[in-house]
Amino acid sequence: MSKRFSLEFFPPKTIAGREKLRGTLQQLDKLKPDFYSVTYGAGGSTRDNTIGVIEEMREAGIDVAPHLSFGGDSDTEMSELLDQYRRLGVKRLVALRGDIPSGTGISRLVYANELVEFIRRHSGNHFEIEVAAYPEIHPEAEHYDSDIDFLKQKFRCGADSAITQYFFNADAYFYFMERCQQAGIEQPIYPGVMPITNFSNLCRFSANCGAEIPRWLKQRVDSFGDDQQAIEEWGVEFISRLSERLLAGGAPGIHFYTMNQVEPTRSIWNNLGLSR
Ligand code: FAD
Repeated sequence: MSKRFSLEFFPPKTIAGREKLRGTLQQLDKLKPDFYSVTYGAGGSTRDNTIGVIEEMREAGIDVAPHLSFGGDSDTEMSELLDQYRRLGVKRLVALRGDIPSGTGISRLVYANELVEFIRRHSGNHFEIEVAAYPEIHPEAEHYDSDIDFLKQKFRCGADSAITQYFFNADAYFYFMERCQQAGIEQPIYPGVMPITNFSNLCRFSANCGAEIPRWLKQRVDSFGDDQQAIEEWGVEFISRLSERLLAGGAPGIHFYTMNQVEPTRSIWNNLGLSR
């Protein structure tokens, strides 16, 4: 089976951000990824922006998968959103629980497996459904095995494949895959890869989402001080090698978190010889 390579964007909040994304898309589209995905803010905070980006990409005939979560939406609102995506010709979704956003009054979120069930009930098999997986285990998980059980449940409810949270330790992915296979999961689990650009932001974000930054990696990046160019060059090298190792070890493809930037994703892509 040929490997699958996808690129993720977030929906910009400003007109300037949207314009920048158009430029990024123009450049990255030359790489011919299998599809793109566009994130969805917790609690629907980016709802209109996400839909706007999806509409624009679909008008250009681009294969794009919206991320979505219930947040505070009712069943009717979710059904309308699914119908809207179907009308736009969307064929793939990334179904998530999301996180509780501050100040919205939402007290309980709908688990991703329930959303997957809802999509299948409402839209049948129209959409291919991706879900999230966590090789370093979701930060709220009770324990390692229960997180894998809940991933399995998402597949049982109708998900087709999973994309992982990013990680910097290839062994975490390989061990996770071994445990998933032992648990009877046969669907593909695509590693999500995060290029290294703004390292302090990455450290802050990683602390919240449960992605570990290995001590040696932090020390190495710290040793470049304020030399942003050196950090980025080293980051491209490191992430290219990590990706190579994942693919050689059997990963079915890679999902790149582009952060709406052409580089370093393009350089990593070229290093991997993925140009088609
Ligand atoms: P779930 O799969 O529902 O799991 C959440 C937690 O609950 C886990 O600890 C799990 O072990 C446990 N659990 C799962 N099911 C059950 C159940 N039935 N009963 C009891 N416990 C259960 N966030 C955004 O806001 N917008 C995005 O666009 C976005 N895109 C993402 C894309 C990817 C590929 C990944 C990996 C993450 C993304 N996230 C996004 C982050 C994600 O929303 C958070 O990690 C969130 O905390 C969990 O979402 P989930 O879909 O994995 O949740």
